[in-house]
Amino acid sequence: MRITLHGVRGSMPAPGREYLRVGGHTSCVSVTLTGEASPTLVLDAGTGLTHLSRTLGHRPFHGEIVLTHLHWDHVQGLPFFRSGDTADADVVLHLPAQDAPPPPRYECDDGVGRGAPRQHTAVAVDVPAPTGTTAGPPIVAPFPSGGGAEPEKSGSAAAALLGRAMSPPHFPIGPEGLAGRWRFRMAEAGWLEAGGARVLLTDIPHKGGRTFGIRVEADGASFAYLPDHDPSADPAPGATLAHGVDVLLHDAQFAESERAIAVAYGHSTVADAVALAIRADVGRLVLIHHAPTRTDDAVDALAAREAADAEFPVTIGRERDVIDL
Ligand SMILES: [Zn+2]
Ligand SMILES: [Zn+2]
Repeated sequence: MRITLHGVRGSMPAPGREYLRVGGHTSCVSVTLTGEASPTLVLDAGTGLTHLSRTLGHRPFHGEIVLTHLHWDHVQGLPFFRSGDTADADVVLHLPAQDAPPPPRYECDDGVGRGAPRQHTAVAVDVPAPTGTTAGPPIVAPFPSGGGAEPEKSGSAAAALLGRAMSPPHFPIGPEGLAGRWRFRMAEAGWLEAGGARVLLTDIPHKGGRTFGIRVEADGASFAYLPDHDPSADPAPGATLAHGVDVLLHDAQFAESERAIAVAYGHSTVADAVALAIRADVGRLVLIHHAPTRTDDAVDALAAREAADAEFPVTIGRERDVIDL
């Protein structure tokens, strides 16, 4: 199979000359199986999806997208995915079912005009408890008939969950506004078949919502993808997921000198990524999810500092890299 890196930045895109070598798009990886002309499996839907569209010549995408989690840097490419947002596209999107109820919404008392110090008073405003679904109350309007995403009842809760980040007034359209045939599915931990590959989803430590690490097996090869992961909280799930893979694509957002902020946001240092690769006995390690403000030269320096002693190949994942397994 062929793995293509379409976006390797974490948190937000990184435009500018200092970021061109590594690339500025956020998380997105595609998988093209042996014998296939185009990718059938995509992991995450950051702004790198727009690069995938370009590599497809904007032809319609036929395949499945699996999201590790729902943070902006992993979903923001969806409404700009021209190969998916077109009449002949056929897409199944899997996103992690959320166990926790939606957080309370807030009213804001900012003290404007009263000379008071700026403060925000949290006031829970009538958020019903989830009933019969882990998705919380539906936010997205019912699917329109005669166009857009398929009005599949089983997918409406998943579409509603995605629609919390992608719907008016935050964005002009919701998931139902994508052209083509789209189906949205809640994913639980475990194996699934997606895009012709065997895919294993495992809950891993991160912050701010349920997060999966992903293992992909196809064509007699395997790789693991953990772009957002704090193994310092518990390395076991990630190491078990990635055990023995040919390639580990792993979170490398922070330096050891930034340990406190890495833990605060549920991310890894480069040294964490190396330690996990050793524990999982992987063939090689590719560092991804680079900090958006770290220049190309600083990414190189960080890897040289914290991954130099690894006894297996360690490379810096760059946008447009292709890995053949
Ligand atoms: Zn991320
Ligand atoms: Zn994240």
